[in-house]
Amino acid sequence: MSERKPLIAGNWKMNLSIDESVSLVKAISAGIDDLDGVETLVSPPFTALKSVKQVIANSGIFLAAQNMHWEMEGAYTGEISGRMLKEIGCTHVILGHSERRSLFRETSETVDLKAKAAVGLGLIPIVCVGETLEEREAGHAFDVIREQLNVSLHNFVAEQISFSTTILAYEPVWAIGTGKSATPEQAQEVHQFIREWIITNFESQVANQIRILYGGSVKAQNISELMSKADIDGALVGGASLNPSSFIKIIRFKEM
Ligand code: PEP
Repeated sequence: MSERKPLIAGNWKMNLSIDESVSLVKAISAGIDDLDGVETLVSPPFTALKSVKQVIANSGIFLAAQNMHWEMEGAYTGEISGRMLKEIGCTHVILGHSERRSLFRETSETVDLKAKAAVGLGLIPIVCVGETLEEREAGHAFDVIREQLNVSLHNFVAEQISFSTTILAYEPVWAIGTGKSATPEQAQEVHQFIREWIITNFESQVANQIRILYGGSVKAQNISELMSKADIDGALVGGASLNPSSFIKIIRFKEM
């Protein structure tokens, strides 16, 4: 494991009522209140952000939204701006999740606009990249990820925008919600590739600071082995983050 502080992030997707969200975050908070050395983040649906924020106010748990628009306000029916997320108390925002890319036609170009807007507002973006099974089987995984990084982070590179707090997440599409995680070796290989991409485009000091999360069927049974790899700095957890005891075990991975 690296010297970067591990981050375990839960993506609740379009699940849970406000009351269920509050119960879940209370259980998580109680299960980790004695824990140091690991950062925890939850990402409830928009409707529960405010109530969850009230629960975690003094807990050290970070709050992320699952998406945002890059403009601050205007005629964008159905959208939520980064400024609105800041007002509600979000510290982070997940951008370019593969479900948004595949189901809602989100592109790396719009991820780029969103990431720049987020950093401008003081929100930490968690920028997701990852290849499909077809792309992996065709031997194109690294090309796809390079392209996603080049375009999704274009503004950061072109303007050398301060980037060191940004978080990247490698989420192979074939591993999300399928129960089929990448092996720690497969994940490490891509994480190393991503870190080398950062070195090429920024300074090596920045590459050493940036955390790269792995996401894709992370559970209590595989987290320790994943976290033992040099370039895996945490996890973005979907399904298992909805179950308090599973998520707490994942956060407490050092004790396993
Ligand atoms: C995710 O949604 O980001 C994810 C990784 O989901 P799961 O853990 O369920 O595979």
